[in-house]
Amino acid sequence: MPATNQVPAHVYEAVEEAAMQLYIRALKVLPPDLKAALAQARATETDESGRRFLDIMLENVEVAERDENLVCQDTGTVVFWLEIGEECAFNLARVSAAVKRGTERATVEHPLRPNAVHPLTRKNTMTNTGRHLPAMHYEFVPGSPEDGPRLPGADVPADGLKLHCLPKGSGSENMSFLKMLIPADGVAGVKRFILECIVEAGPKPCPPTIVGVGLGGTADLCTALAKRAVLRPLGTHNDDPVVAALEDELFAAANELGIGPMGLGGRTTVLGVNIEHAHTHITQNPVAVNLQCWAARRASAVVTPAGDVTYGF
Ligand code: SF4
Repeated sequence: MPATNQVPAHVYEAVEEAAMQLYIRALKVLPPDLKAALAQARATETDESGRRFLDIMLENVEVAERDENLVCQDTGTVVFWLEIGEECAFNLARVSAAVKRGTERATVEHPLRPNAVHPLTRKNTMTNTGRHLPAMHYEFVPGSPEDGPRLPGADVPADGLKLHCLPKGSGSENMSFLKMLIPADGVAGVKRFILECIVEAGPKPCPPTIVGVGLGGTADLCTALAKRAVLRPLGTHNDDPVVAALEDELFAAANELGIGPMGLGGRTTVLGVNIEHAHTHITQNPVAVNLQCWAARRASAVVTPAGDVTYGF
């Protein structure tokens, strides 16, 4: 494996710039799969008020893109998911610091609404960063799909990395749930809990939502998997056919709940159900649900050790 000091200093500046651009881009330009899902929902929605809200959302997306404005006023809690190539030449501590600086610069220089506060004093850092913020997850990408699951669009160079920025609005992040089910609850218990979460959330996460589900693992891993699930483009499936079938079944069931766009009725309650799973203990079956609002913002960038940056979603 190459030594981690092979990446010159200016490349970390490219990482910082990429993090800054990603945060801003994510807030302004929604991914094509999401726009297609909203248009498809508009075409099939039977409820009049549901159709009206979907029209407003589609117009909102178009105006934000055209005028280079924010899709929603809530600039969110900043989450970065970092995919690391198996022969990554970067020093990850320096990458983390660069991502944090990029987030701060986006907030101050754009400027963006600062949301990050101390949990007790509620003092705002004014930078959308702070202790353990932005939230960063690291995923080491296997060289071959046989060696482990990869996020769709696996274009991480072996010696590079891919940054995903996921600004998470509080309306949807507040609608996060974890339940430590036990094997006796069965698959029926898993389905019931996920649907109950969608019902309990109702209008609060600004539906139609993407339902991110973590299944199995430990309490913390399960919750992180639910967040990873939200990153998966709509229309993709879990690579395990049993889990993929559950995604389809829950998608159909959730859209029978009648919650509808913005919770005011209709058949479009969710745009997708994405499940990520891990093996778990024989006596456990944790399930986590992380709802993502209709303004499902995400943006990504691949960075090579030469400092080349390619933006995507
Ligand atoms: S939940 Fe999403 S759409 Fe609703 S206010 Fe927050 S960021 Fe905006």
